[in-house]
Amino acid sequence: MTDGEAQQLDASDALAFARERFRLPDGIIYLDGNSLGALPTAAPGALTETAERQWGDDLIASWTRHDWIDWPTRIAARLAPIVGANPSELLIADSTSVCLFKLLAAAVRARPGRHTILTQKHNFPTDLYVAQGVARMLCLRVHAVGPHEVIGAIDHDTAVVMLTHVDYRSAAIHDMRAINRAAHAAGALTLWDLCHSAGALAIDLDGSGCDLAVGCGYKYLNGGPGAPAFLYVAERLQNELTNPIQGWLGHAEPFAFVDDYRPVDGIARFQTGTPPILALAALDAGLATFDGIAMADIEAKSRALSQLFIAEVEARCGGEVQLASARDAMQRGSHVVFAHPNGYAVMQALIARGVIGDFRAPDLMRFGFAPLYNRFADIVRAAEGLADVLTSREWDQPRFMTRAKVT
Ligand SMILES: *Cc1c(COP(=O)(O)O)cnc(C)c1O
Repeated sequence: MTDGEAQQLDASDALAFARERFRLPDGIIYLDGNSLGALPTAAPGALTETAERQWGDDLIASWTRHDWIDWPTRIAARLAPIVGANPSELLIADSTSVCLFKLLAAAVRARPGRHTILTQKHNFPTDLYVAQGVARMLCLRVHAVGPHEVIGAIDHDTAVVMLTHVDYRSAAIHDMRAINRAAHAAGALTLWDLCHSAGALAIDLDGSGCDLAVGCGYKYLNGGPGAPAFLYVAERLQNELTNPIQGWLGHAEPFAFVDDYRPVDGIARFQTGTPPILALAALDAGLATFDGIAMADIEAKSRALSQLFIAEVEARCGGEVQLASARDAMQRGSHVVFAHPNGYAVMQALIARGVIGDFRAPDLMRFGFAPLYNRFADIVRAAEGLADVLTSREWDQPRFMTRAKVT
């Protein structure tokens, strides 16, 4: 595809207007919104307003005057249409890792007599580590199987099936509905990690019968570095499950200051301590970048972008890189990976040219597509840049070989 043809696609793109909701540096093609979403134009102002006018001028009165105390649920309501849930089923809290711990422990305690946490081999490391920790604490076992063996491995000892919806490496996608159905038929619960799907795909947590879910605020949701995460508990389970990290803000009467814990009804019982207001202000601005936009349109553009990228890379780079994601867009999330034996150095050389993706060991170059701000013309230019780096062997320099602490 020529640059002109790609620009025509951008001109007819129904989501093109949303790019103005972000501040992106000139000359940079940012294909890493699946790791850290771009800065929403409104975020710095929201942070300044919260810090100076609220914290600065109104001090502690802000908890009531600016409803700080309700921000974890108020902001969660913005997420409801993005993940297909009722506002009352969502809470902004903690990090993804901590939310995973809370919901996993809550789930296994709600299935006494069952001893297995079923998950996937090569799941995101934190997911596996949290599962191993919960298993050790509660004398359970973690059973990790291949991605296509999940349904066959569910049995009457399975307490919970814990999976990442879109694989962080390959972008392979699980069939939520089918797995929920199989788990429920065996009496197990499901816990979905939506880190690489929330904000990029049309997810229907309620409609597909999910029990529990968690996800990241700082990836496609554009909430800022280290943004708080979210958790989802289906309405029907909320009063059956209890938060294993019992804290005062999950109490029925936090300001009664009584000695004994008594959880409040509903989603708020999964809150533990004081919410991080400044971080919530940024996340609020991140979620506002989705205002008025249908997730079906986002998903369709995500597929179109990734499909174009694959076609352009394969046409320009020949067999030098190997597609390591599914070719069928319906089997993929919103990123693609290409393998190259010197993938780390190739990616560093590409970043030096202003095309930002990332690298996942052992040899995968990962490119994420954020439909709110990535343009078709950027995709063609990124593929062109990759082809140039490969044909010129620009990557073959010591400065591109040294591994940074964060890849
Ligand atoms: C990014 C990501 C996480 C991150 O967890 P944190 O607690 O925010 O560091 C967890 N799980 C998956 C699948 C991820 O992609």
